[in-house]
Amino acid sequence: MASDVSHPVALRDCPYCGLISTVPHNVRGVAASCPQCTSGLGRIWHPDMRIPRGWALAAGLFYVFALVGPFVQISIYGRLQLADIATGPLQLSVQGFDLVGLLVLAVTIIFPGIKLGILLLTLFGIRLQHPPTRFLKAIFRWYPVIGPWAMVDVYLLGFLVAYTRLTAMATVHLDLSLFALVGLMISMAALDGSLDTGAVWNALDTGPTPRPIDAGHCGGHLIGCHCCFLINRAEPGMACTRCDTVLRDRKPDSIARSWAFVIAAMALYVPANLFPVMLITQLARTTPFTIMGGIVELFAAGLWPLGLLVLLASIAIPLIKLLSMACMLIEAQRPSGRHLLGLTRTYRFVDFIGRWSMIDVFMISILVALLRFGQFANVRASTGAACFAGVVVLTMFAVEAFDPRLMWDGADHTAPASKPDRTLIAESS
Ligand SMILES: [Zn+2]
Ligand SMILES: [Zn+2]
Repeated sequence: MASDVSHPVALRDCPYCGLISTVPHNVRGVAASCPQCTSGLGRIWHPDMRIPRGWALAAGLFYVFALVGPFVQISIYGRLQLADIATGPLQLSVQGFDLVGLLVLAVTIIFPGIKLGILLLTLFGIRLQHPPTRFLKAIFRWYPVIGPWAMVDVYLLGFLVAYTRLTAMATVHLDLSLFALVGLMISMAALDGSLDTGAVWNALDTGPTPRPIDAGHCGGHLIGCHCCFLINRAEPGMACTRCDTVLRDRKPDSIARSWAFVIAAMALYVPANLFPVMLITQLARTTPFTIMGGIVELFAAGLWPLGLLVLLASIAIPLIKLLSMACMLIEAQRPSGRHLLGLTRTYRFVDFIGRWSMIDVFMISILVALLRFGQFANVRASTGAACFAGVVVLTMFAVEAFDPRLMWDGADHTAPASKPDRTLIAESS
């Protein structure tokens, strides 16, 4: 593809296939894609950061309002029960599922709070006359790590599924905190969408100008930083000159770690589907519900869009993730060079979709928070829920541990990955 000569360009390495190519640099609205595997390499929207700063402030306010009060209350036979966002994790812990409770607490309150704290401090810190760049770099490095674990959006979808079950059993009143949660979800999505992390790293950059690599010396060992995406001329183990992250050619022990997570998740997938995830008591009658049982009930109640959603999120996606991860690991170990584009696209898909499998775990945490009316109406979590939460977390770890560039390295017989000068300079639109 011919490059547009009117655009300034920069070197960028593709995190999916490892190709180093030139991409448009600091050009607003222009998207770059990898010429080898077609993965998107980012688009610059607002290099001035005023819009993400506004969204970060809005998200901070919504976050505080979401925490202060109950977000839903229900009444059955004149008895009232209300829940705030921490009630579910607390009840899960009371019922003996401490780790599941901690997981729900972490991904709904702690990680969204940390993510917002990082963004507020960074976006406002770089406006200072003498910004504390060392500190801001140290915290902003965590933004891509924490990001996928802040799951307010998935939690609200879990609430929607729980809501349909609750309305069949009780009178449900929505409280102000729920609307704050919706505001938080929208403002965080807008913040992620409008934030140009490259511009943040440029603003925090205290390195030499121009860098050796910018000055046209393209020889030597080029390593892309997995955190800020700067191309460094360095050896593995050295620190990135812009963000101080330790540079690696490939993720360390990627295949062994990823296989360990995949095998552990496969082992948990069976009990997650065999054992009940919750026990629902209504008028002194207790019924165990498996994941599949819950889906059948949604279909039977005529709620087929929700049933289909839970079927996809809870049964199909974990299975697709496990099978496709196994295929990718085999390809990385015994390279055939076939279907590389398809496998890379699948990797990006499972990376994007993984967190949405938490819907069922959130639904259970909301039901155990609200349905506490003894023999009248009660919900208890069960072993299947813990196994299922384990499957979701382990598959997310497996995807994170895997390095898709290993599949391309193996296929590139003429210049194997261990050779540091495997660097193709190509151009993208
Ligand atoms: Zn690529
Ligand atoms: Zn870096």
